[in-house]
Amino acid sequence: MTVKVGIPRALLFYEYYPLWKVFFEELGAKVIVSQKTNKEIVNKGIKSTINEACIPVKIYHGHVLDIKDKVDYLFIPRLKSVCRGEYICPKFCGLPEMIKYSIKDLPQVIYPEIDFMKNKKKLKEIICEVGKYFTNDSTRILSAYDKAYSNYKSYKKNVNRGIPTSKGNLSHKKKVMVMAHSYNLYDTYMNMDIINKIQEKGIDVFTPEIVHKEYTDDYACKFKGNLYWTFAKKLIGTALYMIDKKNIHGIVYISTFGCGIDSVVAHMVENFIRKESSIPFMLVTLDEHSGEAGINTRVEAFVDMIKWRDINENNISSNG
Ligand code: SF4
Repeated sequence: MTVKVGIPRALLFYEYYPLWKVFFEELGAKVIVSQKTNKEIVNKGIKSTINEACIPVKIYHGHVLDIKDKVDYLFIPRLKSVCRGEYICPKFCGLPEMIKYSIKDLPQVIYPEIDFMKNKKKLKEIICEVGKYFTNDSTRILSAYDKAYSNYKSYKKNVNRGIPTSKGNLSHKKKVMVMAHSYNLYDTYMNMDIINKIQEKGIDVFTPEIVHKEYTDDYACKFKGNLYWTFAKKLIGTALYMIDKKNIHGIVYISTFGCGIDSVVAHMVENFIRKESSIPFMLVTLDEHSGEAGINTRVEAFVDMIKWRDINENNISSNG
């Protein structure tokens, strides 16, 4: 019988799913992903998580509940560091324990520790440790990983669809950058489909993935102080790059209530924009009580403001 591995469609699913999926499938497992986020998943997640947790972590709990009874294993890696010299939010490090202590009757949880700060050299060992749940053949495990990694690299390359330029190589429409952690950006239930809402108003939307890591790292270095939080570095580097290139007509930052990193980064991004440019900026902070009507009104007002700049004077501040 084929072994089933469950992957919750939340948090870093939006970064690493193409890698994990191919790896497990190459080892003969069937990968089961939870449904797209919906009201039931959110409500169940909220009920099973401590109040202090941020909404993306609560939603993750809901996704675990959605698949836990359909699989033989749950894959919940303990992610501490995914880039050399940098860390990610501590919630990712404690995620396996949060889940184990909040949700009963779980299948076996596979929770390898990924810490590139300490043990990138040990990556092979970790891969073999995970692969041994499915086969004892180390060569097969490593070859599955090679295939998965190459699939992941081409996925990342394809996401990089090209930076908008002032020469207008993409379209003559106005261009807006929507920034957020990937799980806030691509979970359309969570963000009330904000990207689509902006596009429907005739605006091209770009996300931080269009800016290559080489550039975001480079621009983030211009910031004084050591940025050792991987996702903060990406967002700050992207904002500084966009301000410098002057080829975007608006920036929207989606943050979540209760996120320590966003509470600092969103305001830093806003300060850079307001100080260094006149690009219109909108901060959207989401939580479980956010209403769609409020988002619609704010999107409409923001897009109108961008369009009015064509008709009226353009020499106005990023506040409008
Ligand atoms: S970075 Fe923020 S939103 Fe993401 S898991 Fe950590 S606290 Fe939650």
